[in-house]
Amino acid sequence: MRELIRNSIVFRSASAVLGVSFFIGILFSVASYIYFVDEEQDQTVNTVYDLLASLENTASIACYINDQNLANEVVNGLGRNADISQVSINVKETILAKLVKPTPPHHPSIATLFRKHINHIDRDISSPFNSSEKVCTVHMEINQDAVFEHSTSKARFVVALLLFQTVLIALVLVYIMYRMVTNPIKSISDRLHTLLPQNGELLPHPHRYTGDELGQLVNDVNNIISDLVSSLDEERHLRVQHALGEKKFQAIFDNAETGIFQMNEHGELISYNQALARMLDLPTGQTIASHALLERISGQELRLHLMIHSAISEAQILSEDFYIELGQNKKKWLNIVVHAAENGVLQGLINDVTERKQQEEKAHQLAVTDHLTGLNNRLGLDREMARLAKENANGTGCPFFLLLIDLDKFKTVNDTYGHSAGDIVLVHFAKILLRTLRKTDFIARLGGDEFVLLLRGLDDLSKAEEIARKIISQASRRIDISPDTQVQIGTSIGISYTPASVFSPEDLLAQADAAMYEVKQHGRNAYQVAPYFPDDSAR
Ligand code: GH3
Ligand code: MG
Repeated sequence: MRELIRNSIVFRSASAVLGVSFFIGILFSVASYIYFVDEEQDQTVNTVYDLLASLENTASIACYINDQNLANEVVNGLGRNADISQVSINVKETILAKLVKPTPPHHPSIATLFRKHINHIDRDISSPFNSSEKVCTVHMEINQDAVFEHSTSKARFVVALLLFQTVLIALVLVYIMYRMVTNPIKSISDRLHTLLPQNGELLPHPHRYTGDELGQLVNDVNNIISDLVSSLDEERHLRVQHALGEKKFQAIFDNAETGIFQMNEHGELISYNQALARMLDLPTGQTIASHALLERISGQELRLHLMIHSAISEAQILSEDFYIELGQNKKKWLNIVVHAAENGVLQGLINDVTERKQQEEKAHQLAVTDHLTGLNNRLGLDREMARLAKENANGTGCPFFLLLIDLDKFKTVNDTYGHSAGDIVLVHFAKILLRTLRKTDFIARLGGDEFVLLLRGLDDLSKAEEIARKIISQASRRIDISPDTQVQIGTSIGISYTPASVFSPEDLLAQADAAMYEVKQHGRNAYQVAPYFPDDSAR
């Protein structure tokens, strides 16, 4: 029952209306009952008094002439009233007439609480001729049960009518409320309970309730459902789009030719794609080879750490080339691009730029190579000198000798045997230089018949002089320019020196040039050491 009241608005509202109606009905019924009982009792007594008044003259005459028959007439007349149980007319101490009616036994009940206790009425009767002379007394006993029964029957009828009216109104109220309010609400609630908004279902309007508050409620609920469904559709669409986007991104990530990776601030890989695994020659497996990149670029880790540091602190996209050794002399150049994402994680791309690097190296080699002899050219010498000057300035360089060589009377070869014969001589002399020098030494042809040698890591002049003598000796031998033609050339060499300290390439070359010029001046085919050395320890 309690469950029913809690769960059913129909039952709860009906119970409330009926309960309140019955309470009010009973309250008013009790009040009405008390009022009517009281009124009726007063009315009954008044009736008795009226009856007595109508017979008072007859009783007066009967008493005055002491006529017993007439007195009996009066007594019987009064006794006809149902509410009077006993009547007597007393003349002084004598009873002139008396009537006693049989009365049923008294049954006490709750109703007797409302009873007025008027037991008897005594009325003095005056003489017909002198109103101040009392001739007798009429004594009447009131039948209280009859009076009460008479009074309550009317009150009971009124109460019954009132209760019936209350019940009727309560039932009508419950019915109206059920039809107009609770039932439509219940039908909306039941429909809402089984509604499937995802199937496009909406709440139907209850019959005849389209324009009022319930219709408004249904409209509002339908609007909310429509908004909700369209939001859900939109979200579902977005989810599908997102999933497709992720799939596409995953496909790009997996199939890209470019290596894509995430790494932490220590340069350890967190994730990477297949392309990167191929580039770094990594085994394809589930476990991430986090140290693979650091291992592959061994020796250049500092550069990578500096890059990572700058990418994080300056929020920049940085790019640098690294070479990696993959064993069996397999060398690759990789271009690494990194930028800081978030929480110390970096994202980046790696491209294999080996081909570009090789082409660059080739172009660079071509730019610094003398086409005739295959030695370095002037540009190559300039770059090498600049590099050595930088090393010496940094304190990481070493001492070296510079030998400037010019062939003697070379023009004559050209003039006598032709330009190609001169070329043969130049190539021949280049071979002599390559044969005579160590691999670590640097050889360049500046142009014409002029050559420069850099004897690196050497600070012993006697050894430099020995090499100069060897070159002069080797070059002085006859050269076959055709089966039946031979030529002989001489070489003039100027030598300058620099210790492992700051030097000027131009000055060093000028010193050697000056020394070589001296040789030319003094008969050629010899060497001369430049007179000025900043550091005498080499002598
Ligand atoms: P010197 O003893 O004073 O050095 O006299 P030289 O005859 O050797 O004259 P010099 O060194 O001043 O001239 C070098 C010549 O080399 C000038 C030029 O005609 C020639 N020459 C320059 N480039 C080439 C080349 O690529 N091939 C040939 N065959 N000759 C060249
Ligand atoms: Mg010359």
